Amino acid sequence: MIHGLVVTAPEALYRCGHLSERFVKGISPICLSELTNGQVSRLTRGMFGRKLIQLIRTESHDNAMLLKKPGKEFPQKYPAIKKIQENHHTMEIEIITVGGYDEVGRNMTAVRCGKEIVIFDMGLRLDQLMIHEDAEVDEMHSLDLIKIKAIPDDTVLQKVEGTVKAIVCSHGHLDHIGAIPKLAHRYNAPIIATPYATELIRQQIAGEKKFDAKNKLFALPAGQRYTLSSNLILEFVRTQHSIIDTVTPVLHTPHGAIVYACDFKFDRSPVIGQPPDFARFRQLGREGGLALIVESTYIHRPGRCPSERIARDLVRGVITSFEDDKNAIVVSTFSSHIARVKTIAECAHEIGRKPIFLGRSMEKYSVTAEQMKLVSFPETASVYGNRRTVDRMMRRMMKEGKEQFLPIVTGHQGEPGSILTRLAQGDTPYQLAKGDKVLFSANIIPNPMNIGNRYVIEQQLKMAGARIFDDLHVSGHAYREDHYEFLQMLQPRHIIPAHADMKMTAGYADFASELGYTLDNDVHLMRNGQRLKIT
Ligand SMILES: [Zn+2]
Repeated sequence: MIHGLVVTAPEALYRCGHLSERFVKGISPICLSELTNGQVSRLTRGMFGRKLIQLIRTESHDNAMLLKKPGKEFPQKYPAIKKIQENHHTMEIEIITVGGYDEVGRNMTAVRCGKEIVIFDMGLRLDQLMIHEDAEVDEMHSLDLIKIKAIPDDTVLQKVEGTVKAIVCSHGHLDHIGAIPKLAHRYNAPIIATPYATELIRQQIAGEKKFDAKNKLFALPAGQRYTLSSNLILEFVRTQHSIIDTVTPVLHTPHGAIVYACDFKFDRSPVIGQPPDFARFRQLGREGGLALIVESTYIHRPGRCPSERIARDLVRGVITSFEDDKNAIVVSTFSSHIARVKTIAECAHEIGRKPIFLGRSMEKYSVTAEQMKLVSFPETASVYGNRRTVDRMMRRMMKEGKEQFLPIVTGHQGEPGSILTRLAQGDTPYQLAKGDKVLFSANIIPNPMNIGNRYVIEQQLKMAGARIFDDLHVSGHAYREDHYEFLQMLQPRHIIPAHADMKMTAGYADFASELGYTLDNDVHLMRNGQRLKIT
């Protein structure tokens, strides 16, 4: 049975009406313009699954029409989005890959639609600066930071003609928001981010000593839209990642949607929040997405990224196995990973130990999330941010007995000056002894410096007699089969792999080519500072 018909010229619409009556009962046409045959076939695969589709070729390939079953509203577009897509089909759309295309970090991408520009992310590259989560960059000048490749080189945008309408951030990680205090003041545009990311950005700007970003901050919750101009609508689609309140921003243009999927994971059973809005992604695919700018960090990892619930089981399995142990249990994790911090605190509470959050970044992310009512920690939990209170609490833990407490600290990458590094070096009032447990609920971010630092700290911990429990962690990034699923949903006309070095973006391009995309035609390998016209 034929489930759909595709025609490749507008004049075939009339003929298709007859065809549908004769062959495909109850299917009526919808026009999709400016698609190549390959793109139409990918799109129809997404719509009809693997069911039979009839392609009717005509002399003109300018337009394609798809036939739908009657009675169903298709495509179901937000009226304003439909309106902008009905207009301005001649508008030029260009992607400017500013940062995060030669490395993991300092993400920044600009999209120019005619004379209007939207910037996605302004991030730091942490390892380049050798900064840890408690680091100070607040007194450095942006040009110096650009020179050492710690922030995106946005000078490329000086040559791009147009007005920046918005700076959009998908989530609150530093490699996405960390350069805002250094760069945002150059643009007379609001910063639009999720509520949690907005609050983190506000704190970042407040802590900046060199520049004074006066951009308006606008918190846009997941599932909502923001009209940027008569041509552009921004939409935040809910997704999951290793920080709460992450979205996939979608920019609706007259040529279709541009989806900025950096970063995401398809977690169907998250510890905090709802699973990604798959229904909306599918709908965007049916509407005909123009471009997908997508992270390619873990494209080489087979299968799907495990749910955060798996990490919770791993952490819980280890922590709750120490019930009768009088030794110390110290856990190190990402301070911004609120779901993980919550899991660790709950496990501590379960075995009768008080969860103690130590360090300024632990304080920043946890307190902000709790104040915004995005998380609730056990009431026995307490936070100590600055060095003086951290040391005082450490003395108290030593005095009252290490078995009463469970310190949660940063420093899993072996960052110099971090609490875990100081602890390993015996440089804190809290002293490790034989049989004490140190748990790493984090992976090593794979760059040589982290690997080296982590090796040193592990050796020091072992020399102090500590037992090490590693890899109590799952990733916050999509794996290969997640990416496959995403492409099946979205069926974008163009793909721009991002958020990675060339090895990873090339890996994504290779993967996309297996699915019918062609390098330089509809999948594009970009470097920092390059420009690509897609319409
Ligand atoms: Zn991230």
